[in-house]
Amino acid sequence: MIYLDNAATTGVRRTVLEAMWPYLTEEFGNPSSQHELGQRAASALANARERVSAVLGCRAAEVTFTSGGTESDNLAVKGVALAAPRGRHLVASAIEHEAVLESCAHLRREHGFAVDLAPVTSDALVRAADVAGLLRPDTTLVSVMYANNEVGTVQQVALIAEEAHRVGAVMHTDAVQAAGWLSLDVGALGVDALSVSGHKLGAPKGIGALYLRRGTRVEPVLHGGGQERGRRSGTENVAGAVGLAVALGLAEAARADRAAASTLLRDGFIARVLARVPGARLTGHPLDRLPGNASFCFPGLSGEAVLLELERRGVVCSSGSACAAGRDEPSHVLLALGLDGPTAQTAVRFTLSTETTGVELEAAADALSESVASLGALSTG
Ligand code: PLP
Repeated sequence: MIYLDNAATTGVRRTVLEAMWPYLTEEFGNPSSQHELGQRAASALANARERVSAVLGCRAAEVTFTSGGTESDNLAVKGVALAAPRGRHLVASAIEHEAVLESCAHLRREHGFAVDLAPVTSDALVRAADVAGLLRPDTTLVSVMYANNEVGTVQQVALIAEEAHRVGAVMHTDAVQAAGWLSLDVGALGVDALSVSGHKLGAPKGIGALYLRRGTRVEPVLHGGGQERGRRSGTENVAGAVGLAVALGLAEAARADRAAASTLLRDGFIARVLARVPGARLTGHPLDRLPGNASFCFPGLSGEAVLLELERRGVVCSSGSACAAGRDEPSHVLLALGLDGPTAQTAVRFTLSTETTGVELEAAADALSESVASLGALSTG
């Protein structure tokens, strides 16, 4: 199988699992317990927090472990909105993950917040000026993702953060897809909150983290025993936190080389697909995109049908965002780029990992052109 769906999820790396293993077996203590077993778990958790904070360039106390990207986004958006007495206005981009968009929708429905969504260009860039145009003196939070999960476009987060701060709003970025590919240095990004998720980079599903700049007020979403400095109750996932720390550290150490190598492979793959599949269109920004993302529309064909044909030929990828899979509606991201509904339904996303080779990508391009040929000619109009 050629696995080109790494933006959906990845397998746990062996080194990550080995680091986690003791905390799943003999070192199984609860970090809140006073006895030594518990205290050893507490110190493993503290060490994991340090290691995550080293990658983010922040203080350990600014890192809250969560159950993943969805929870981090919920805590950032709902937590900051409900804690901040500044006002009841939120700004997000139209192409955010559902975890952000639905949190905003919840705040609008249940708490009377006004929500404005910033438009994007046809290649999925959020313009800082467009965000600036939506800001109000009572804007509480601006949430713009670092890189898009469907089309891979990378946003100018630092410029947008500057605009958000001009009106005193908190700036959150969803870095779930950027992690492992781009620098997560929160100082350089200028953000007050940043979400990451373990399973996109070789840690298990069910662990994530939220950076919250010191002094940023947040109302917890989960109430209970007051773990994670009261921000996120629930017995800590010690093994998961250790796994996330190791995976983030490994990814960060290899990041620059990995990004350069994958960019070359990705561009070769994109060029091959555009040359061999008549009518194929790249979606997302041609340059400002994640090194591991190659996404296309194949007008006239069904993305789902292309996916099935590819899988028959041993290539696994995705027809849009994994979270939207199984639903029939066209992706809100592709619609926001200005694609019409039928064209949006033709989308196919290929996402690479560090392990992806040029040989695999050549085989995938061959499989794609065979798949498309077997489904009939594309309409180029
Ligand atoms: N944000 C983005 C951009 C994502 O791509 C995803 C998952 O696909 C999430 C958030 C949700 O993360 P998790 O699966 O860890 O809940």
